[in-house]
Amino acid sequence: MKILKFGGSSVGSVESINRLMKILKDEEGGEQKPLVVLSAMQGVTNLLSEMALMASQGESFEEGLKELEEKHFQVVKQLMAVRSQNPVFTKLKIYFNELEDLLQGVFTLQELSPQTRDKILSFGERCSVLLVSHIAGQYFPDTLAVDASVLIKTDDTFGNARVDMKTSEKLIQEFVDLKRDKFLFITGFIASTVDGKTTTLGRGGSDYTAAIFGSALNASTVEIWTDVDGMLTADPRMVKKAFSLPVLSYTEAMELSYFGAKVIYPPTMMPAFLKNISIVIKNSFNPSFSGTIIQRDSGRSSFPIKGISSINKVSILNLSGSGMIGKAGFSGKLFTLLAQNHINVILITQSSSEHSITFAVHPEDAHQAKRLIENEFELEIAADKLHVPELEGNLSVLAIVGENMKKTPGMSGRLFYALGRNGVNVRAIAQGSSEYNISVIISHNDLSKALNAVHDAFFSSLKTTLHMFCLGTGNISSTLLSQIRKQHEFLKENNDIEIKMVGISNSRKMHFNLNGIELSTWNDTLDNEGEKADLKLFIEEMKNLNLPNCVLLDNTASHEPVKYYEEVFSSNISLVTCNKLANSGSYKQYCSLKDCARKHGVDFFYETNVGAGLPIVRTLKELMTSGDRIISIEAILSGTISYIFNNYVGDRSFYDVVKTAQELGFTEPDPRDDLKGADFMRKFLILARDSGLTLEPEDIVLENILPRNCIDAPSVEAFYAELEASESHFKALKDRAEAENKAIRYIGKLEDGQVQIRLELVDSSHPFYSLSGSDNVISFITERYSQRPLVVKGPGAGAEVTAAGVFAELVNVGHNA
Ligand code: ADP
Ligand code: ASP
Ligand code: MG
Repeated sequence: MKILKFGGSSVGSVESINRLMKILKDEEGGEQKPLVVLSAMQGVTNLLSEMALMASQGESFEEGLKELEEKHFQVVKQLMAVRSQNPVFTKLKIYFNELEDLLQGVFTLQELSPQTRDKILSFGERCSVLLVSHIAGQYFPDTLAVDASVLIKTDDTFGNARVDMKTSEKLIQEFVDLKRDKFLFITGFIASTVDGKTTTLGRGGSDYTAAIFGSALNASTVEIWTDVDGMLTADPRMVKKAFSLPVLSYTEAMELSYFGAKVIYPPTMMPAFLKNISIVIKNSFNPSFSGTIIQRDSGRSSFPIKGISSINKVSILNLSGSGMIGKAGFSGKLFTLLAQNHINVILITQSSSEHSITFAVHPEDAHQAKRLIENEFELEIAADKLHVPELEGNLSVLAIVGENMKKTPGMSGRLFYALGRNGVNVRAIAQGSSEYNISVIISHNDLSKALNAVHDAFFSSLKTTLHMFCLGTGNISSTLLSQIRKQHEFLKENNDIEIKMVGISNSRKMHFNLNGIELSTWNDTLDNEGEKADLKLFIEEMKNLNLPNCVLLDNTASHEPVKYYEEVFSSNISLVTCNKLANSGSYKQYCSLKDCARKHGVDFFYETNVGAGLPIVRTLKELMTSGDRIISIEAILSGTISYIFNNYVGDRSFYDVVKTAQELGFTEPDPRDDLKGADFMRKFLILARDSGLTLEPEDIVLENILPRNCIDAPSVEAFYAELEASESHFKALKDRAEAENKAIRYIGKLEDGQVQIRLELVDSSHPFYSLSGSDNVISFITERYSQRPLVVKGPGAGAEVTAAGVFAELVNVGHNA
């Protein structure tokens, strides 16, 4: 025999009841009629609970009652033939009258006992069973609504009653024996004490009812029909990438549900486990999907864990003091005290020194727990052997669960790495001795981020989503975004990375979209939907969103974003930038940015600060970290100046060449910004610092290419006029180079701790002689590369190569640790 249990969402509306009927029809023809257990219609238990509370506070509950009636009557009207409607209306009306009397009593007395509350809540299941059994009566013979509260016997812990299995099983067997020929529709959730007072089995308890019936009747299977594709790797409302699990062991299902996977109520597993009945979780919105089977054996899985659960809100109590050390029975006394007062302890951790115990409880129990402890241990507290318990709220529990964990080392490492990297502070840790579960307590504000980060970390064959925020919409950003767009599918396929741009800003506008800003239309979106730009607010919003795997791109050339870098790192957000200003400011700033990023375990990537996409910063870093030592560096790092001297040959004047360079987009709007060498200086300063030197910008000796009159010219136009007039100055240099068969090069040199950038004439034996176009070249002489230098050479400027460099770093965020 099979038990089918349908949850609230499967009896929530006309459509879902129709679906339910279809599922029952598909069951027809089986060996035996299934037994159907039903929850209240969706939202009804909550509504009843609210009405009870309002009545107890002297507030009107009439509207709620009307809503409840309407909800049930509508279904009758739409799903039943007119001539059969009346008897159902009448029976429902009798229930509603009874309910109204109860609520009126609560209203008058302004008192709501747990016993009365259970009685009120019981109407949800009683009404839905009445309704559905009558609707089913139109398709199947001999349907019968069964109020299971008379069959399941419990103690009098109202709200969460303990079942007397032996008595209940006997009553169920006798009853079903008698009604063997009927098609039974049974209330979930509700039960009664020996003396007939209505009790409930705890919220979500209809699942449990199904298992109790299954156990009593030795069912082959208990099917739990709900609104998702079985048990998923995480709560799908919090983790979009959660996916369905084909098989779970009873223990795994118990652990996952105990730690918050609401899809099945934890006690359900016990009777099924004892009788080895399989539980199948199925989706009534997708009945052909196989769902999740819960059985003795956990099944094979390529993942080290089965799932991640969470309890949204918990409080912790921390007990400490010397009086606890070596005191046998202290924790026994503590937890007995809590148990006697029906306070459920969710999780316990104890330091090995026994100096402190931390445990988590539901927030509504926290103050009572604290009071109870203070009373019980009054003397110890007075004698200072025990400190006053510390209470902390607004926390959540996150738990990873799976039997495979036992066999796989490094699970907690992976968990804590994912949390740490995303700046999630862990307040307490508990690992069950079974090693099926590791639980951590974290701030509630971090829960969503933590769940997603941990999910990405454990189900790593799934895509990692990189949440990207972009500053600057100039040439580099535009090129980068179009590169990302073109590579999107490839990255998903081959690198398991999905880049989602959540925010973008330029100096005028900014825009956010949690679902990702469409990369083909970001420009229009920013223009049309963007709000007024405000960098402070942009950073604020990025922090508040608290997303996992988060990275900020600074593609500006402005000082403003740099002011926020440390704040960004402190929020555990990585940074990729082509903006040189941060690392070429004061040495103090250079160090403190690096320290801050390191301290928070985030990436600070700036390869494109030097030589665009060429691997210069990375090469230097690898040399240094592998223990090599830099003896000297020689480099040409200005693509603009390279271009100019490479083209200043033959008859063309210097003025002509600079002008063409500007027209081709190789120079800054004012070409003097390049020619004065400031940009070169910044790049070289960064390299010198990365090679271990303590240098300030003014320590670098910089030779000026331009004569004074050109530098002092008041405008760009005036500058060009001066440049034209100064041709003889440059020609003299060119003539000398030609006479000596040499090339003019603007070269930076680091030697003996000194950095100089100067114009030099190099002959054909020099590696920089043959440099062409706007290429950069850098040559490292190190202890290991002492005979022949390590040379990196290639295009060192331009939007395409710079954007490609930023892109390469972006996909490496989080991969190096
Ligand atoms: P029913 O009304 O059918 O009893 P519930 O609302 O009690 O349904 O449980 C189903 C819901 O549980 C799903 O809609 C889902 O949002 C939530 N849920 C939380 N964690 C999980 C999980 N790990 N797997 C599946 N569902 C989950
Ligand atoms: N209707 C009850 C509740 O909402 C029981 C259940 O749905 O399982 O908690
Ligand atoms: Mg449920």
